Amino acid sequence: MLKPSSKAASVRFEGVTKIYGTDVKAVDNVSLDIAAGTLVTLLGPSGCGKTTTLRMIAGLEMPTTGRILIADTDVTRLPATDRDVSMVFQSYALFPHMSVLENVSYGLKFSGFNKAETRERALAGLEIVGLSGYGSRLPSELSGGQQQRVAVARALVLEPQVLLFDEPLSNLDAKLRRKVREDIREIQQNLGLTVVYVTHDQEEALAVSDRIIVMNNAVIAQDGTPRDLYEAPASRFVADFIGEANILECTINAVKDGLAEAEVGGYKLKLPARDMQPGSAYLGVRPNRVEIAKAGIKNALPGTIIRKTYVGNHLEYTVKTDQAELFATTSDVDSAFNVADTVSVIFSDRGPVLLAE
Ligand code: ADP
Ligand code: MG
Repeated sequence: MLKPSSKAASVRFEGVTKIYGTDVKAVDNVSLDIAAGTLVTLLGPSGCGKTTTLRMIAGLEMPTTGRILIADTDVTRLPATDRDVSMVFQSYALFPHMSVLENVSYGLKFSGFNKAETRERALAGLEIVGLSGYGSRLPSELSGGQQQRVAVARALVLEPQVLLFDEPLSNLDAKLRRKVREDIREIQQNLGLTVVYVTHDQEEALAVSDRIIVMNNAVIAQDGTPRDLYEAPASRFVADFIGEANILECTINAVKDGLAEAEVGGYKLKLPARDMQPGSAYLGVRPNRVEIAKAGIKNALPGTIIRKTYVGNHLEYTVKTDQAELFATTSDVDSAFNVADTVSVIFSDRGPVLLAE
């Protein structure tokens, strides 16, 4: 068995900018800190700069300005071959003519291990990804999910300071994606690895990460735990990108002791001000925090149910109000409200959050 990593290292970006050619700013003055032994995800829409950020950690791209530190050592100008970092690609990039064991052994041969050690480590790597006994097969004799595991094993056995994954699950079908992501997380935790993981899939990010760095247009939109991002998104972009959110215009009437008195269509709410000032703002509310109650409640939003969908373990409602169509979910599958009913909409305590533009 492979032992917990003693080499897992921190990663630090200090004001890193990457410009391709003369004018494509792929990463714009990004600073971040990734603690050793944690799994941090870079999450964001296509083109926001995730892969470029990852490739700069690997040394496959050089920053235009700024500094990169691994284990507190400045590696900004160090080429990929001199960094102790491994990357798992979306396409697996296995050698088709080599057996599984040879693929996993490949990097070890250049790392100063003798033949017996190389074989032993490679076998241990296969064991950890659940592929003991597959060593003599060719990659073409494996399923997509198994090939991806071989790619993971090949990176793992090098015991790098940092392990990088660029959208590792995108070639797998939905069921396998869940299994492989759980495996990656388990291996990372068991071996105490530093992993930087790139995805555009918010559910995947929420499921595997200690921390998520949300990127948008080459900058960091928010950096926090999955729960921070879900329950306290910093902006409309993050609220919208991480899970579903209802977004409503509101007015902040007053702010006192960190609490805002806000109002949306006559519905008055008291909630954390999050440093915002009186004036117009936005309210983000998760569907599971939107409650439907009988019509006529005084402090609430009046509305009409326009859609009701039964999806097995919960119900989904769409309610039309003067402000917006609100999407609500409830685990009460016996809920008696039906399409065309007039109702009151209220938001659960700690449900709505104020959002800046
Ligand atoms: P992501 O991985 O989030 O989809 P990328 O880091 O691949 O984003 O790309 C960020 C931006 O940089 C995009 O506008 C992309 O077109 C551009 N870009 C990426 N690689 C290159 C390159 N080698 N040359 C020029 N532009 C590039
Ligand atoms: Mg990419």
